[in-house]
Amino acid sequence: MSDTIFTKIIKGELPAHRVYQDDRVLAFMDINPLAEGHVLVIPKEPGASLADLSDDSAAAIGRVLPRICRAIRKATGCTDFNVLLNDGESAGQAVMHVHFHIIPRYADKGEGAGLTKSWKPTKPDSEALAELGRKIARQL
Ligand code: AMP
Repeated sequence: MSDTIFTKIIKGELPAHRVYQDDRVLAFMDINPLAEGHVLVIPKEPGASLADLSDDSAAAIGRVLPRICRAIRKATGCTDFNVLLNDGESAGQAVMHVHFHIIPRYADKGEGAGLTKSWKPTKPDSEALAELGRKIARQL
């Protein structure tokens, strides 16, 4: 598997403003933040998709995400967050190494600099929804 920018940051071959690190996880400042305090949280395990991440790495990330959110809130005074993961090209993933964005929101600053949320909900038939839910559940 070829190295991504983030693999190189993990190895120390590229600089980053690190905010947290343990055996499995690294967090650093996004170089082009969408809002003040925008942090990326990544597993040290290589791989592009969350779906392929090991349970151990997933657990390690899950354990520190809230802690990092709390630290950002204390450091910036932000009120709210979007926690976002772009997974795959059609989802807008540019760096092919799993990464969670923690994007602070500031109630007193309106929409923020660069993140606009555009949900376009659909209205599926209830039975179709139930059947798809059962189909997914059977895969778990
Ligand atoms: P995504 O579109 O979800 O793949 O987002 C990739 C993110 O990585 C963007 O928000 C970039 O600003 C950020 N990024 C790219 N290169 C670096 C870097 N060297 N250091 C920190 N953040 C970076």
